Amino acid sequence: QAKHRGSGDSVVFDPESDRRVRAKRESVDSVYAALARREFVLHYQPKVDLKLKRVVGAEALIRWRHPERGLLLPGAFLPAIEDDRVMIALGNWVIGEALEQMQRWHEQGLDLSLSVNITAQHLLAPDFLSGLRQLLLACSGPTTSRLEIEVLESSHIEDAAKVEQIIVACRELGVGFALDDFGTGYSSLAYLRRLSADTLKIDQSFVSRMLDDPSDLAIVSGVIGLAAAFQRRLVAEGVETIAQARRLLRLGCHLVQGYGIARPMPAEAIPAWVASWPDAAWLAIDEDDEPT
Ligand code: C2E
Ligand code: MG
Ligand code: MG
Ligand code: MG
Repeated sequence: QAKHRGSGDSVVFDPESDRRVRAKRESVDSVYAALARREFVLHYQPKVDLKLKRVVGAEALIRWRHPERGLLLPGAFLPAIEDDRVMIALGNWVIGEALEQMQRWHEQGLDLSLSVNITAQHLLAPDFLSGLRQLLLACSGPTTSRLEIEVLESSHIEDAAKVEQIIVACRELGVGFALDDFGTGYSSLAYLRRLSADTLKIDQSFVSRMLDDPSDLAIVSGVIGLAAAFQRRLVAEGVETIAQARRLLRLGCHLVQGYGIARPMPAEAIPAWVASWPDAAWLAIDEDDEPT
């Protein structure tokens, strides 16, 4: 609607910005409504240790069971959520749900660490730590399993000193911290130096091309060396083939995640999958002398 302020300083009606404001409000409302209707669900992708041949944990990945559009992947709805408060509400739901799931698995005799993805905005929100503390208290969780927070390395962590404070506080709460998609941002090395994150997750784009492209192989082996020098845990994501896994293992990276091991799956499918891993092919991965 056109508005007129004093002194003839008029604001002209702009249908485009009006449309954008309305679209944003609708997206905010629809996410809150979907939270209330319990339409969000977490799928879990196992993370395995190739050396110990053990499932060590899983990453929680959000999906939206949309009543009209079907099961939506995060890429189909997260980028449209521009409102920080909605992302925080969603992020807190993800943390709470992941903690409850960790507890349910623990009761079934399954101790898995769980990673959750959190935006840098959420992490830097003033009440992030008090919210996290409350969620941890609300869950009489197991002590052997751990929650780990993943933040995109590319998410312009503007205030590194503040982020470092939060990482330290998380550690005091027993919560781990990972830099996700490591190597895709502009400041990977600066973050590595300034942030005491326990884990680096090397981005899947490097892993997927490492056997074909010498540059990607150099980046992967370089990051493996960096992680060792800085005493960080390294997880390779996007492992799709046994050949990639074998090469990673030989380069010194033994924690992996990827479609080649398992796709993300509903929580109910995890116990049977864990019981069945490793099959013969994965069991023999380091005994194999095939040239890579
Ligand atoms: P991410 O945290 O880097 O998660 C890995 C993504 O790669 C997941 O996609 C996973 O399904 C996919 N992936 C795993 N293994 C393979 C593989 O071998 N090959 C290929 N091509 N892809 C693989 P997904 O579930 O669509 O999630 C995409 C991104 O959305 C995530 O990337 C993460 O940044 C974000 N995301 C997911 N869940 C949440 C959440 O609960 N909150 C927030 N803020 N972001 C989330
Ligand atoms: Mg992640
Ligand atoms: Mg990632
Ligand atoms: Mg990613």
